[in-house]
Amino acid sequence: MIIFGTRGYLYQLAILTLVCGWCGNPAAHTLRKRVTKFTLFFVPLFPFSTKFATQCTFCGGEQQIPKEQAEQLLAQHAASQGGNPFGQAQGQGQGQPGYAPGGQGQNPYQR
Ligand SMILES: [Zn+2]
Repeated sequence: MIIFGTRGYLYQLAILTLVCGWCGNPAAHTLRKRVTKFTLFFVPLFPFSTKFATQCTFCGGEQQIPKEQAEQLLAQHAASQGGNPFGQAQGQGQGQPGYAPGGQGQNPYQR
């Protein structure tokens, strides 16, 4: 008698801040990979299904995404973690000299 079946593994890859497709909030999302493996006599042999999904921590909504998108998100996540070679998202709107939102100092539009 041959006993075979499947077994699912769930991996949490990263926590990303995304705009949720369900609730519309820019909330933290967990990026998960679910791997289903073929087992023989309860021994996992090889994965035959890999699926990626994001889950919103705000509303709990889960959305399946294609592998390409998951890899893209992971790459963006990795870039935002360490040194960013492109210098994006750093110092935006901060410390710009000569621009004071409070309107103090020289304001050319003052009457
Ligand atoms: Zn949500």
